[in-house]
Amino acid sequence: MATIAPDPTESAAQGWLGSFVQTWRPGTGAPIEDREPATGKVLITIPGSTPGDVARAAAIAAAAQPAWAATSYQERARILRRAAEIYEAHRDEFGTWTQRETGAVYGKMHHESNFAYHEILNAATLPSQAYGSLMPSAVKGRLSMVRRVPAGVIGAITPWNSPSVLGMRVVAPALALGNAVVLKPDPQTPVVGGAMFAAVFAEAGLPEGLLQVVVGGADVGEAIVTDPNITVVSFTGSTAVGRHVGELGARLLKKMSLELGGNNAFIVLDDADIDAAASAGAYTTFQFQGQVCFAAGRHLVHRDIADAYVAALTEKAKRLRTGDPYREEVELGPIVNEKQLGRVDDIVQRSIAGGATLVEGGTHEGLFYRPTVLTGVTTSSPAWTDEIFGPVAPVVTFETDDEAVALANSSAYGLVASIYTRSVGRGLAIADRMRTGMVHINDGTLNDEAIVPFGGMGDSGNGSRYGGEASLDTFTEWQWVTVRDEPPTFPY
Ligand code: NAD
Repeated sequence: MATIAPDPTESAAQGWLGSFVQTWRPGTGAPIEDREPATGKVLITIPGSTPGDVARAAAIAAAAQPAWAATSYQERARILRRAAEIYEAHRDEFGTWTQRETGAVYGKMHHESNFAYHEILNAATLPSQAYGSLMPSAVKGRLSMVRRVPAGVIGAITPWNSPSVLGMRVVAPALALGNAVVLKPDPQTPVVGGAMFAAVFAEAGLPEGLLQVVVGGADVGEAIVTDPNITVVSFTGSTAVGRHVGELGARLLKKMSLELGGNNAFIVLDDADIDAAASAGAYTTFQFQGQVCFAAGRHLVHRDIADAYVAALTEKAKRLRTGDPYREEVELGPIVNEKQLGRVDDIVQRSIAGGATLVEGGTHEGLFYRPTVLTGVTTSSPAWTDEIFGPVAPVVTFETDDEAVALANSSAYGLVASIYTRSVGRGLAIADRMRTGMVHINDGTLNDEAIVPFGGMGDSGNGSRYGGEASLDTFTEWQWVTVRDEPPTFPY
């Protein structure tokens, strides 16, 4: 069982990050109350930013970027390594903020901190990688090379649900590759999504101006997307907002990296280990109250084993405890806010009204929603068609592998799929037919590593990826350079 994070102080104002936040002024706008979802308590009030603050921040970042791009690769790598050390040194405190701002249980918080740390470590290897190739040339005597150059100023817009990882997978590689960054976290997580980055990179010795952190909502986000100094926009969030942001950026011919929602298929074939599948299915649906883009959103189970699978899944759902994850030993914390709670419950209730059977859950106390299992779901149920972003497992059955593939691919989203089977060959044959950016055989949907290209197809994104080599594609531009010893002669 997970241990409860230490509560060194009830005052959010204490500690290394806490003292930084006391004097942090990310903008000149209206104050933003940073609330703990589990208690409703205001942790801290921070001055928000305005579109004018974004313009100033982007101009400062653009002015600082060329000198940083010209800085030696050793020095850029050194600052990233130093940032990793500082992150590691203050990890417990960052974890406390993560739990309190997002409502994460200890295990989720621990995973997130570990992952963010590895994002920085991996980014520290990027400056020393080869950044181009020598090309053959059709022209005799011409030296031809292609090289990657920094994209300029990256605008990073991140959601509240995993603020340190989703920010770090942009900020660390973008800086490592010679860019400047303007980061805007969700206003529900201004500290661990924003202040933490400002504090860590300032302490690491990142030259001034290169990392600008602003805090605000849609108006501040749109100011980032449309700012003339920002060349690449990295947006992680919902498909609806991503589509809108994509339209805004496309008009300005910006490079847009859109990592969006998911409604991920968890497929259980008739030869699967049912207990192992039910355990993975429960964990990857209910973990962090289902508020994860790559959660298992749809359970597709072979008809012959469906009863046994649903029984095992329901048994697990019944046993899970809900409560304040910072102060109690629980497996599920709160839904992030009232609006999202209402949305989750509405999807569940409309699905039941449309014929689905409520096997477990479907109730809540305050923001604490019980893990829920629905059967008899049809492909037109809201629980099947929508990204629920809540602790809900809708189950449908199939009879053939072809049917499973068709059902899985019937969603417009295409982030990740899981397949449980004792036949790896059968699993791989299904994986070949998945229209998703990621597929896991005999594992849950919640998988990521800093060195792999993470991202989705269809409504889950516009094809960009984060992680390892993919970060080079996202945060640099190609440049072709040729050199001739003697200038050629031309016809006139
Ligand atoms: P959201 O789209 O509401 O907000 C995301 C960010 O966009 C926030 O910082 C928000 O302030 C900002 N924003 C809102 N309106 C904006 C606008 N008009 N212009 C510019 N910025 C704007 O998303 P959310 O509800 O906070 O996050 C959950 C969603 O994110 C889910 O759909 C989830 O699947 C998705 N997500 C995707 C990934 C991924 O890697 N694919 C990772 C995590 C979350």
